[in-house]
Amino acid sequence: AMRITGSFSMFAFIIIFYARANASAERMAEVLAVDNEVEMISSSVGATDKVKYGEVLFENVSFKYPGTDTPVLQNISFHVKAGEKLAIMGATGAGKSTLLQLIPRFYDITAGRILIEGQDVKEWDTQRLREVIGYVPQQSLLFTGSIADNVRWGDVEAEMDAVLQATIQAQIHASVEDFPRGYDTRVGQKGVNLSGGQKQRLSIARALLRKAHILMMDDSTSALDVDTEQALWKDLESEKATMLVVTQKIRTAKEADQILLIDAGKVVAYGTHDELVKSSALYKRIAISQQEVEQ
Ligand code: ADP
Repeated sequence: AMRITGSFSMFAFIIIFYARANASAERMAEVLAVDNEVEMISSSVGATDKVKYGEVLFENVSFKYPGTDTPVLQNISFHVKAGEKLAIMGATGAGKSTLLQLIPRFYDITAGRILIEGQDVKEWDTQRLREVIGYVPQQSLLFTGSIADNVRWGDVEAEMDAVLQATIQAQIHASVEDFPRGYDTRVGQKGVNLSGGQKQRLSIARALLRKAHILMMDDSTSALDVDTEQALWKDLESEKATMLVVTQKIRTAKEADQILLIDAGKVVAYGTHDELVKSSALYKRIAISQQEVEQ
């Protein structure tokens, strides 16, 4: 099994992987940016495009990292219907990123079941499973090349029209046009410096280009201003994709159909914003601290 430690080696791995990638077959490069210890499965599950898109069901899921004794997630259950949006909140270390990484099966769970479109992830064709998932990681990774190439990392064969559609939706198109060389602008080494928010939006465009059924965003809008973020959610409404969004912001969580609040690996609250303000002291405290509800 491949072991990658530290962000530098992870970055190097992605570059090498990309360079060797066989265009269409390996589009899930982005999500491979973590240790991959599971056995890849070939199967017909997921092979056909169904009308139903992106249902995600967790049933009493528990998980420990391999070689450790501490449970990181315990008895997690939730249900995101196709096309719905789930916000995942909780303190640093609560288990939010880990939870996302279980969905494309980077790790096998210790107990419980994860079903995607009604099928256990252990039965899905692993590569296909990763193709139907678009993952915007916490740290946006750009490689040396043009802005267009960086977006195309989501689908190296994409036409420029599709690239534009994705960048417009991700609210980055106007910024790109402001560069003298537009989409040919070089980023990465010796290229222009992009702001944190611009990198995040490029990374979102990359995921959107893939037309994934399930879009997972790990704190991917933290550097966006209020107006840009609102415009982004409005534009994403036209996407059929199911969304799982890790966020620290109540303002973002309010946009979701359901909110899952986790603390030390356990679900402590699950429901809509209005429900949680009433039912969860912890959620209410966070909302008050962000001035999103009255004391
Ligand atoms: P969050 O995203 O909510 O900040 P994480 O999912 O990153 O939380 O981490 C949850 C817990 O799992 C933390 O205690 C963290 O130290 C631990 N953890 C994260 N990644 C690994 C790993 N690769 N191996 C062992 N423990 C890990």
